[in-house]
Amino acid sequence: MYLIFDVYVFVLGAVVGSFLNATVYRVKEKKDFIFARSECVKCHHKLSPLDLVPVLSYIFLRGKCRYCKEKISPLYLIFELISGVVFLLYFIFLNVNVSIKYPIFFYINIIFYLIFICIFLYIGLYDFLYYEISDKVVLYSSILVIIYFLISLYLGYINLDLIFNHIVIAIILSAIFLFIILITKGSGMGGGDMKLVFLMGLLLGYPAVLYVLFFAFLTGSLFGIILILNKSKKLNSSIPFAPFLSSSTILYIIFSVYVLNFVSYIFLR
Ligand SMILES: [Zn+2]
Repeated sequence: MYLIFDVYVFVLGAVVGSFLNATVYRVKEKKDFIFARSECVKCHHKLSPLDLVPVLSYIFLRGKCRYCKEKISPLYLIFELISGVVFLLYFIFLNVNVSIKYPIFFYINIIFYLIFICIFLYIGLYDFLYYEISDKVVLYSSILVIIYFLISLYLGYINLDLIFNHIVIAIILSAIFLFIILITKGSGMGGGDMKLVFLMGLLLGYPAVLYVLFFAFLTGSLFGIILILNKSKKLNSSIPFAPFLSSSTILYIIFSVYVLNFVSYIFLR
């Protein structure tokens, strides 16, 4: 029973990952991102449904286009697998007890954070591929957070202080990032990171967003050091930072309860 549910959730994640992947490509190519049919990046042959099964198509076609035999980037497969695993972890750590009847707000929460996992998967992939974060995605996502807060406020789950906390930390963090960008003349971080950090502050609030930023800097610099040691990057060449910000945010959403327990165990004893 549980295994079937896990498989279902993983497949759902992989399908969403496949959709996000196609959306990133279509937005970049300025194509209709809902109704356009997927095509091979190389030969532009329209893909049949059989070519579009997440994970399995890639494996059965041995990573090549069925029509022109061009190699398909393993990134598609990797991203679909990551999305599947992220969905799976999210539902495992939610620890929903099917025999309990939760209030409707509980389900609103689950869907809201799942949407944000998808948004951060999208932002991370887009920045990883094109070194760019869309203003529109950040703007609409911020509006979504505000709507969610207003609903939560109306239902009495949060108070105005909490909304104030989230807005203030979002503004402070993006101001700090702007300052860093100005003094490093954009060689460290870009304007996209500033927008992203605003969204993260708005969504996560203080102090959670600081834990996430710390983790993102930690993993980002570790990754940078590894690349430099492998001589695949020079010291002054830049690595996109948004994938680290996004993945840290996603991990926080999945493990938030554990992160907060851990922090209070370490610092508040
Ligand atoms: Zn092709």
